[in-house]
Amino acid sequence: MKFTRINDVRQLNRLRILNTIATKGKISRTQIAKELGFNKVSTGEIVESLLLEGIIEELDPLQKKAGRPSIPLRLKKDRYFVIAIDIGLRNIRLALVNLAGELLRFERFSTPSNPTVEEILALIIKTTRSYQKRISEPQEILGLSVSIGAEVESSTGTILSHQSWQWNDVPFAYALEKYSGLPVIVENNVVAMIRGEQWFSPTVADKRLFYVNWGQHISGAFLAPGRKIFREALFGHIVVCDSHRCRCGGTGCLETVASGEYLSSFSSQGNSVKKLCEEAQSDKNKRRILMDSVTYIADALISTCAIVRPDTIIIGGGISLLDDIYFDHLVDTFNGKCPPIVNNNISIERSLLKDRGGIIGTAVAALDELVFHRSFLQQLNHQ
Ligand SMILES: [Zn+2]
Repeated sequence: MKFTRINDVRQLNRLRILNTIATKGKISRTQIAKELGFNKVSTGEIVESLLLEGIIEELDPLQKKAGRPSIPLRLKKDRYFVIAIDIGLRNIRLALVNLAGELLRFERFSTPSNPTVEEILALIIKTTRSYQKRISEPQEILGLSVSIGAEVESSTGTILSHQSWQWNDVPFAYALEKYSGLPVIVENNVVAMIRGEQWFSPTVADKRLFYVNWGQHISGAFLAPGRKIFREALFGHIVVCDSHRCRCGGTGCLETVASGEYLSSFSSQGNSVKKLCEEAQSDKNKRRILMDSVTYIADALISTCAIVRPDTIIIGGGISLLDDIYFDHLVDTFNGKCPPIVNNNISIERSLLKDRGGIIGTAVAALDELVFHRSFLQQLNHQ
């Protein structure tokens, strides 16, 4: 949801200055004016208002050889917080996150099996209240963001359909806003992950990205600079073999031979990919299962790349933490099989945010919508 309308130049300049301070770490008024091409007077005025609000702070002056000392400014990261809630099939993660995207409190609950909307709301509201009690004046919680592996209409905060739980047309933001009294953002989980990656990794900022969320289920999203994220949630349903029946009704989908749900069933306890990886160190059959699943992921990526032509593929989600031998096998298989006309030096990287990508990306959705509006500024820059 858009809570602030950015409708005048001063607001726009305020955001540009705030984002410059946030991304540079430390920067003086003169450097900001130079960086953004603003005049010193209006830069100074906006900086004063940000100081007054308490969202930035001045550090000790740096003595220069000549002239007046320069005063570095930086983001006051604990002035505001957001609460991020990542609702997964196996776990629900909640975190109190500051303006720098740092997790100050983090909790994880097992997701009840086939939960109702009310059950999930009750859990979120209880934890949110406990976070609200823990922060002190003048700190403030600005809002909540929720990410979920579902079809989502983020402009209204509605969960349109959640396949596994048969949730349809749930006005989730509306319900949560009513009980928490805070603005609520609802985002698809892969969109949140890709936003998190873009926020924290300077190297992906100007790249065409394909992001794979490799977890219990498999999904993907595509992002080109200055564009809205194109969510190709059906990456997990690219057909890669002809044997297994998929929950979608099809046969041979990637999910049936590479998802966390599939892989974990081979671990001795039947519920953990991490365990399977440990066991695979001394069990050739289990290693083969993992290697084959990686090959299938590579095959599906090659098909995807022929259409969307990314510069970089990012592998995120819990299974992206697989041992290096599997990750290397993924890269080698991709490079070995991908036709040269398709593989224009596409790099495959693990998510920078590792298995925290979900929760941090969820927080970024709120930081962006409620504070920084950075994706809006980027879209303006590309117009
Ligand atoms: Zn399928």
